[in-house]
Amino acid sequence: METAKERIDILIDNALYYSKIDDELSDDQARLAKKIAMRVRTRLPYSIKQLFCKQCKEFIIPGKSSRIRIGRSNTRCIRISCYRCGHIYRKLLSHQSRLPSHSLFVRVEK
Ligand SMILES: [Zn+2]
Repeated sequence: METAKERIDILIDNALYYSKIDDELSDDQARLAKKIAMRVRTRLPYSIKQLFCKQCKEFIIPGKSSRIRIGRSNTRCIRISCYRCGHIYRKLLSHQSRLPSHSLFVRVEK
């Protein structure tokens, strides 16, 4: 189980990396990660799940194929818009939950 999670992490990292070089390869890596997650019946952590559009199920890269906005009001939420299909969805953050710590936030905002 642990090795599957590691593989998923690596694939997602690759997908984010290749998104700057080769879109197709990036999509392939992301789809593979999802496939592995389904096969081992593991839940993807939210930081990875948000990289897939809830509507078109495609891999979306923040700053490239999606836009992530963080609401600054009392109710903390993230709004994710998919540029591929135009779907916008919201995710409420509870007070306990921290912002996703996945490297994508660091990388994309550079
Ligand atoms: Zn979409």
